[in-house]
Amino acid sequence: MSKRLGVELFVKRDDLTGGAETGNKIRKLEFLLADARAQGADTVITCGGLQSNHCRATALCAVRAGMKSVLCLRTRDVAAPPPLEGNVFIDLLVGAEIRLITPEQYAERDSLMRKIADDLRGAGRRPYVIPEGGSNALGAMGYVEACHEIEAQLAPIGGGFDTIAYACGSGGTGAGLVVGARRTQVARRVVGFAVCDDRAYFQRTIAKIVAELGEPIDAGTIEIDDRYKGIGYALNRPEELCFVRDVAREEGLVLDPVYTGKALFGLVSEIAKNKRAYGGRVLFVHTGGIFGLLAKASELGPLL
Ligand SMILES: *Cc1c(COP(=O)(O)O)cnc(C)c1O
Repeated sequence: MSKRLGVELFVKRDDLTGGAETGNKIRKLEFLLADARAQGADTVITCGGLQSNHCRATALCAVRAGMKSVLCLRTRDVAAPPPLEGNVFIDLLVGAEIRLITPEQYAERDSLMRKIADDLRGAGRRPYVIPEGGSNALGAMGYVEACHEIEAQLAPIGGGFDTIAYACGSGGTGAGLVVGARRTQVARRVVGFAVCDDRAYFQRTIAKIVAELGEPIDAGTIEIDDRYKGIGYALNRPEELCFVRDVAREEGLVLDPVYTGKALFGLVSEIAKNKRAYGGRVLFVHTGGIFGLLAKASELGPLL
C-alpha cells in the first residue's frame, strides 16, 4: 500500500495488545482498573453498543483483576436475547451481567450507571463506574503512554511521523494521542476519523479531556475528519466492506468494519486524492475490533 500510495504508511498494531483483550481499550483499562482496585471496588459498571469492544475488554479484564462487571448494552430490541456472536458472546463467556438498554436510555447513560452503582452500594457491593469507551482523563493516559512507546519504537529508525491517524468513537484515544504527541516528538499532526457523531462533537469532547489532563487546547485546532463515518455507527456501505476485504488480501492486515475499516478507508482515500495530504510518513493506529468483524460475517460473506 505504501508503494501504491507513494507515502511511507506505518501501522501501530494495537490490535495485538492482547488475545481476547485485543484493541485500544486495554490501554485505558490499565489505568481505570488500577484506580478501581485502589478504591477497593468489587464490580465495574460500563456501557456501549451491543457489540462494544470496550465492554468486552472491560468484562474480560475485570475478571482478571478479580472483579465482576455490569454492562449496559444499547440495542433497539431489549426483549430479544443478545446474539451469541462477536463481542457480546465473549461478555457472556466471561460471566458479565448484561443489561440491555434502549437508545433513549443510552442517551442518559451516565445517570443510569450512577443509579446502578447506588443500587449495588445499597446491596453492600463496591461499584466503580467507567464512562463510555473508558474515555475520561484517566483512561486517556493510556494513549499518552502509547506515544512514549511509539517514541521508543521510532528511535532505531529516527525522526517522527508527519501524521498519526486513528479511528475516533468516544474521544479518549484521540485525547491521549493529542497530549502524547505534544509531550513527545512522535508526530506533527494527529488526525481522527470519526465513526459516529461529528467534527464539532469530537473537538468539544477531546478538548474537555485534554483540559482535564492539564493541557488546555483550542478545540478548533483538534483535527477530526467526519466525512467517512458513512451511513451511521456500526452500519456499512459496500465500499467499506470491500476495502476491509481488499486490505486483508493485499496486506494480510485484518481491519474491522466499525472503526478501523472506516478510518483507514478515509486516510487512504484522502492520500489517493492528494499525496501530500498527511505528509510523507504516516502512522495509522490499528485500534482492534476483530470481534466486531466476526459479528458481521454474514454481511461480508457475499463479497468474498
Ligand atoms: C473504541 C474503539 C475505537 C475508538 O476509540 P475511542 O477512544 O473510543 O475514540 C477505535 N477502534 C476500535 C476498534 C474501538 O473498539
